[in-house]
Amino acid sequence: MTGPADASGERDLPALLGGRPVRETPLPYARQEITAADREAVAAVLASEWLTTGPAVTEFEDALAAAADVRFAVAFSNGTTALQGMLAACGIGPGDEVVVPTLTFVATANAVLQQGARPVFADVDPHTLRLSPEMLAPCLTPRTKAVLAVDFGGEPCDADALRSLLEPAGIPLLFDACHSLGGSLRGRKVGSLGKASAFSFHAVKPLTTGEGGAVTTDDEALVPRLKRFRNHGLDRDFRERQQGNSWEYRLAELGWNCRLTDLQAALGRSQLRRLEAMRAARDRIAGVYLRELAELPELDLPPVNESCVSARHLFVVRLRLDRLTADRGTLFKAMRAEGIGVNVHYFPVHLQPLYRERCGTAPGDCPHAEAAYERLLTLPLFSAMTAADAADTIAALRKVLRWWRR
Ligand SMILES: *Cc1c(COP(=O)(O)O)cnc(C)c1O
Repeated sequence: MTGPADASGERDLPALLGGRPVRETPLPYARQEITAADREAVAAVLASEWLTTGPAVTEFEDALAAAADVRFAVAFSNGTTALQGMLAACGIGPGDEVVVPTLTFVATANAVLQQGARPVFADVDPHTLRLSPEMLAPCLTPRTKAVLAVDFGGEPCDADALRSLLEPAGIPLLFDACHSLGGSLRGRKVGSLGKASAFSFHAVKPLTTGEGGAVTTDDEALVPRLKRFRNHGLDRDFRERQQGNSWEYRLAELGWNCRLTDLQAALGRSQLRRLEAMRAARDRIAGVYLRELAELPELDLPPVNESCVSARHLFVVRLRLDRLTADRGTLFKAMRAEGIGVNVHYFPVHLQPLYRERCGTAPGDCPHAEAAYERLLTLPLFSAMTAADAADTIAALRKVLRWWRR
């Protein structure tokens, strides 16, 4: 599958311009890894009594809490409902402001808006592309009810630095940890670094249940609120009523139906056993990228951070546009034409039409994120990727950058 060796220094014609692509079969940017054990776990639930609200959900929650080194985990139907439930359980609603970084998936900010609160967009540190105390400080107001930090790419934010800014003001630190399950900061697990953390188990994330999500916390008071949020607002779920030989339930507040099924939970439980093995596999690929791409002056690589273990969800490089004759759009198309499924994470959320209209945000509000956006390119990275896949990505990148080098 690998194209001609490029050691000669000659410039191969890019596939975008009619040359031969590096790969015939496209490499996706992310892909799930499903084993025989995963399939057996799901099949066992299909043959069991409970398809939803059953024991597999509780087992998954217990295993997840252990993996995140916290007392509690509550499963949700996806990462977005987990974020919504987390915000609701923390009492966030109309009139409240929640600070979110602008360089994230839209769901981070949407969840705030869906609770009736107002997202306040923070710029990101130009080096790490994550929230820092410097970027956060100007966003805090007397209405700030929480900060929702995002572990962009899988590397945990510096929770200690953020907390020392927030603690004197009594503002809770929450995490959108949808990228970072399996990571850690100074020896402490992602999921235990804030008041609560939300996870996604979408197919491309570090662990998958197809669609799915969860909130982890050490705060016992949040647990019944999270459970009511996901089950219509009711005080008892179906299995609790069944076990108590009672049909009764009480509804005191409005909730939703955003439960995870037992089929999904069993898949999650099975995947959790390989969480570190899958992370280590992505870490090896990332290590190859870091080594092999270091020599390319047209790229800025993700900075190495000794204080944490990254979940390695996304490998995001920044193009040195000053050294290139083409923009990111052209290089994106060129890489795709070579059969390499590059992607872009993310278009700054404060520039989305919805947020310009609702929050009055505009270009120039978050200059670091806006400048970074023009240069961002996500390379394929997933646990089932082979060394040959990584070599193809590197060969395609060399080929494309060599062609458009200034
Ligand atoms: C994937 C993701 C979400 C949403 O998760 P879903 O499971 O797709 O709802 C939220 N925030 C971030 C940063 C994500 O990457």
